[in-house]
Amino acid sequence: MCTVVSTLTGKFFISIVVDDGNPPPPKPQATNQTSIGIDVGLTTYVTMSTGEKVENPRHLQNTLKRLQCLHRRLSKKVKRSRNREKARLRLARCYERVTNQRADFQQKLSTRLIRENQAIIVESLNVKGLMRNQRLSRAIADVAWSRFLAMLRYKTEWYGVTLIEVGQFAPTSKRCHACGYLNEGLTLSDREWTCPSCLLPLDRDVNAARNIKMIGLGSIITPREPREEPVELSALAEASKQETPTIRAE
Ligand SMILES: [Zn+2]
Repeated sequence: MCTVVSTLTGKFFISIVVDDGNPPPPKPQATNQTSIGIDVGLTTYVTMSTGEKVENPRHLQNTLKRLQCLHRRLSKKVKRSRNREKARLRLARCYERVTNQRADFQQKLSTRLIRENQAIIVESLNVKGLMRNQRLSRAIADVAWSRFLAMLRYKTEWYGVTLIEVGQFAPTSKRCHACGYLNEGLTLSDREWTCPSCLLPLDRDVNAARNIKMIGLGSIITPREPREEPVELSALAEASKQETPTIRAE
């Protein structure tokens, strides 16, 4: 299959897809040692269950002022004039640069995650639901989560790595990954908290990543239908076994 794409800056790309007839590589059984849970965020792009954090490069944010200026200049140019075409091209190049930087960052990060792990466990995101929040929408567009998730989906197929998507209904931030205590009073601004039950100091994102990993791995052992309601406190001990993520196979 061959696809030709032209960009707004006048560049042409040809993409050729060839089917080599080989089946996709087999996926090894996910174990605790070879799996990673990742939590996604706005300030920190990726937080891993290992405790490592990858910051959001915020390419779009940094270039935002430049884009606004170029937008203003374009709007003042006379329609169908040569100067308008020049201004349009300058704006398109600026957008293109941000897009390329973002794609480069996402490609490298997703490849690294796949090379280092046999299973990757992520929380399935409701991007459309989040976009309704005006204040967050630009930051989320910048983070471009759906594209990153798409990369993880096809690359895990290529390299024989398991991708487990955990449903959003599980309490990943509010639950202490060590003892299962549910902190109902936790707000979005609480970045760090100490578990009142086991006294463990917790980083919000790392705790979430560890919970995501536990839920994902638990479901591999006993796959069941996903529960729609939030996990009850009494059921916490079993929570990791009861949540069933969807295992993507595209
Ligand atoms: Zn605890």
